[in-house]
Amino acid sequence: MGTINHPDLQLALKDFLIEEEKLTQVVYRMTKEMKMGLSKETHARAAVKCFVTYVQDLPTGKERGKFLALDLGGSNFRVLLVIIRGDSDLQTESRTYVFPETLMTGTAKELFDFITECLVQFCRQFGLENEGLPLGFTFSFPCHQQGLSKGTLVAWTKGFRVEGVVGRNVVELLQEAITRRGEISVTVVALINDTVGTLLSTAYFNNNCRIGLIVGTGTNACYVEKTVNAECFEGYQTSPKPYMVINTEWGAFGDNGVLEFVRTPYDKVIDKETVNPGRQTFEKCISGMYMGEMVRLILIDMMAKGVMFRNESSEKLLQRGSFSTSYISDIESDAPGEYRMCNKVLHNLGLRGNQESDRLNLRYICEAVSSRSAKLCACGLVTLINKMNINEVAIAVDGSVYRYHPTYPSMLEHHMKKLLKPGVKFELVCSEDGSGRGAALAAATTVKNK
Ligand code: BGC
Ligand code: MG
Repeated sequence: MGTINHPDLQLALKDFLIEEEKLTQVVYRMTKEMKMGLSKETHARAAVKCFVTYVQDLPTGKERGKFLALDLGGSNFRVLLVIIRGDSDLQTESRTYVFPETLMTGTAKELFDFITECLVQFCRQFGLENEGLPLGFTFSFPCHQQGLSKGTLVAWTKGFRVEGVVGRNVVELLQEAITRRGEISVTVVALINDTVGTLLSTAYFNNNCRIGLIVGTGTNACYVEKTVNAECFEGYQTSPKPYMVINTEWGAFGDNGVLEFVRTPYDKVIDKETVNPGRQTFEKCISGMYMGEMVRLILIDMMAKGVMFRNESSEKLLQRGSFSTSYISDIESDAPGEYRMCNKVLHNLGLRGNQESDRLNLRYICEAVSSRSAKLCACGLVTLINKMNINEVAIAVDGSVYRYHPTYPSMLEHHMKKLLKPGVKFELVCSEDGSGRGAALAAATTVKNK
């Protein structure tokens, strides 16, 4: 980052440039929180839940079959058909459905009827109504799983607030809706988190893969733990299988106050605006749902102080959510000294930015927000790698922030290297369609095990 000339802006961004010592402290605290989640004794009061996923095997390449998959929990809703022929031959057909925003705050029945409607349309289109296909459900919210095909929603995240789902088994809600509709024969056999799907779909090709990471609308990671450490799993001491995939739900890290030393005043404003104040503290510092809003808050603060865009005003910018997170990627995509994308963003917001310093400062704000996100995310990954105590690992990654921000992958890598013990090697692998393929692979293991 260049030099910020204005003292007020410098002050506002100072808290975002978390120094290494603090990052080390984040890793330390997260390690502690994760252990609390894993332990049977402390799980109930842990902020980072470290849920057991009941996924104990990574794909071997021997999986076979034809599966349906659903992907719910980001900005899109998708239905997929996945045909696994083996020898790394995975064929998918998918349809993306516009997810009406009203469903995010509607009722359980409306939500699951909509999902079923899309599924029915999809099955008709591909002539699958009567095939009795097994379905893997990628549901990207914190679930307390009681089996691979049973899990109750613990809390909604990412702006969802559908009535009548928290505390319920979402597999049952889906299966009931399918039965109620009565037009297709489909059995829901697996419920997985998107991080787990991401891990599975990459592990299918990559033997070193042990972590699945999402940095998109929300953020979370899963990793491969020793079964003996997964105390919340009934058979943790006697299971013949040595490993258990753990869904950390790290987005909730800090919900008990342990992250206050890195949060900024802007984080507190963001949190108040959300439908789940006090929850998902770490996620709100990192993920795409909040990054743009963070930039907007800093920007309007700087405008109010007369630091930027003097003598200009923007009605649009005063609206919550008007600074899309994709604008950050756009602005940071410009080569230094160029402002092609930046000018487009300014135009969208009804700003001119007569001074070059306005555009430069806006870029600094974006960089402050995105680099802090990458730093904190690096802390999370380092925590997991240290916990697994391995020297080489591949990390499967998906999500819009990771995919579309021009320097996010390199920032993440840079900060991980700084924080990891020397000699530990890692590779970040962008996962292709993890949610869909992963759900099918999880479904395949249940069919195989029968
Ligand atoms: C959810 C996680 C999910 C993540 C990424 C979070 O808000 O709690 O379950 O994996 O978003 O989609
Ligand atoms: Mg997704």
